[in-house]
Amino acid sequence: MFKQKKFLGQNFLINDKIIPDIIKVAEIKKDDVVIEIGPGLGILTKALIDAGAKVYAIEKDFELAEMLRKALGKNKNLTIVHQDALFFDLSIFKKYKVVSNLPFNIASPLIRKFLESQNQPELMVVMVQKEVAEKIVAKPGDSERGILTLAVEFYANAEIIMTVSKNSFRPQPQVDAAILKLQPYPHTRYADKVGSKLFFQIVKAGFSAKRRQIRNSLAATLRLEKDKVTDILKKAQIDPSLRAEDLTLKQWFVLCNVLKNYQF
Ligand code: SAM
Repeated sequence: MFKQKKFLGQNFLINDKIIPDIIKVAEIKKDDVVIEIGPGLGILTKALIDAGAKVYAIEKDFELAEMLRKALGKNKNLTIVHQDALFFDLSIFKKYKVVSNLPFNIASPLIRKFLESQNQPELMVVMVQKEVAEKIVAKPGDSERGILTLAVEFYANAEIIMTVSKNSFRPQPQVDAAILKLQPYPHTRYADKVGSKLFFQIVKAGFSAKRRQIRNSLAATLRLEKDKVTDILKKAQIDPSLRAEDLTLKQWFVLCNVLKNYQF
């Protein structure tokens, strides 16, 4: 008997009515290459193969990888990889999609790994905790907007497709889930122009004290005089009394452009 490993975020999907929605949103066509992180018992894996995809299923749990090998291993369109997906090498892939019910506990670093890669997927359709999905799509002015929101918005368009009740999983998690569609833009759109290092340094500084005005959090973290920061914000046409969560992606870019001429 298989015993669930909580530390691996093993909440298996038992409501197979959701599967066709995932396949549809991911627009799976014959011969699509799909990376599935955490295939578990293979409910989604089988549907992906049935839809014609060539699936690379990356499973960290050796016991589950072996169970999946026994159940679906003979299928020539399935490659089972027993590995931690955080360390999975993406360089061999040309064009691929990511379709997964992600282990909730490491959903954010996994999403960031794929989006930040030089070899991004053409599309990601992933199930995550509803709260995480809401953080990712939070618009300016929403208190949920934070570093994760911008880390995704910098690389992709994000959309919540639907929420999924926690009753759809066994064992049942504490919270509901949501299906998230992430459509990456090429790095040339923002990342190569603005520079991800500077962008994240400034975003982190801005969010270092979430409740404070942007002027104060930037001054404290970047060790700049408050008057200087007020000047910088004026040059960027940003009201210094706003909070980090109020800024649009474009405003962060303008701020980066002004700040790159300063020593901090
Ligand atoms: N796809 C299955 C389903 O929908 O029922 C299982 C989803 S379950 C939420 C997450 C799966 O990810 C589990 O099979 C777990 O063992 C696996 N997992 C957890 N951490 C992982 C990691 N770092 N790399 C690869 N797989 C991981």
